[in-house]
Amino acid sequence: MERSFQANGRRYRAPDRPTLAICADGWDPAYVNDALARGLMPQLSRALAGGGTYALAKAQVPTFTNPNNVAIVTGVSAARNGIAGNHYLDAEGDEVQVTDPGFLRATTIHAAAAAAGVPVLCVTAKDKLRRLLAAGSVPAFSAELAHEQSLPDGTPITEVAGRPNPSIYDWELSPYTIDLALALAERLHARLVYASLTDFVQHSAPPGDPLADAFYCAVDACLGRALDAGFVVGLVADHGMRPKSNGDGSPNVRYLDEALLAAGVQGARTLCPITDPYVAHHAALGSLAWVHLADSSERDRARGALAALSGVEGVLDRDAAAASFDLPVDRIGDLIVLADAGTVLGRSRETHDLSALHGALRSHGGLHERTVPLIVCSPLAEGAADCELHNRDLHDLLLNRLSQRSGAL
Ligand SMILES: [Zn+2]
Repeated sequence: MERSFQANGRRYRAPDRPTLAICADGWDPAYVNDALARGLMPQLSRALAGGGTYALAKAQVPTFTNPNNVAIVTGVSAARNGIAGNHYLDAEGDEVQVTDPGFLRATTIHAAAAAAGVPVLCVTAKDKLRRLLAAGSVPAFSAELAHEQSLPDGTPITEVAGRPNPSIYDWELSPYTIDLALALAERLHARLVYASLTDFVQHSAPPGDPLADAFYCAVDACLGRALDAGFVVGLVADHGMRPKSNGDGSPNVRYLDEALLAAGVQGARTLCPITDPYVAHHAALGSLAWVHLADSSERDRARGALAALSGVEGVLDRDAAAASFDLPVDRIGDLIVLADAGTVLGRSRETHDLSALHGALRSHGGLHERTVPLIVCSPLAEGAADCELHNRDLHDLLLNRLSQRSGAL
């Protein structure tokens, strides 16, 4: 094993202790603050009291799952790694899910570490991320489809976990994901482990709800097991989460294709980059959308119609959005529409199945879910967290910026 390796222009030290980086899907800081204040996370409290760090970091915009997981595992922005949504419109005009590793324009830290001889492992709750995380021959498994996966020697993954996997709409899938990652890490002797959770609970329940309480207690116990097993543990969220419904419980949504048609804009196409297979989470409704124009001469009229909608707080041209948010210009829309904190954006009434939602809509995607918790359970070197942090800095903190004292523990 080499002492260090390079990924996307940054050098990382090979871990001298087993290291677990967790992407805590949809962990708005409000959940962590509430859980800590009410004593629901004693293991995390103990780690913080022992010199750990709880800071706030910035997420990649759009604040969706795939762009932020890829930012975290590559250490670079979407402009560099190429992933700007869960879903996008390709050059042929086809809508595609961004799940194929061929979309990546940067190596992952795990692939670079593996090439340097570091045993690595990725475990994701949502199977949609598995192939992206596996890029570069990284061993990657999903809790969602654990019942279909085996180790190279034929051992079923669920046998390694010691229990069957919960369903994608079960609150226990995230704790299971961490426990599965720990069990697989032991079995495979992995030194650098990434575990990505799911935000079904955060889409379904606000901080303080009994479901959220059960979730944070269970995840805290998982953190305790990881720390007891000798892991350096760090955690960062991909995005926050906010309520997005009206007083009567219906989603507070603006349908952009309908607004464009009403304004006489022909052939425009709204694309919701939150779109993924997990419709009960969000019904493909988030607080940022791309609009692709059939005729660029209609840009001003389209921009005006969208900006006039209540609940829309910004409409940016492609180049301005790419520059403001570090996005790849060829994988976003002609116009980028940003909703305010309590509003989501859809295409048209008939393209979103609101009946799939579990309760009042909670969602993400815009600027108001950009602030996320970043936690390192071991002491950091002095000043390491004093700069503006992004969630993509997690591996730099865990591998390069622990204090010498914590490295020697
Ligand atoms: Zn997410």
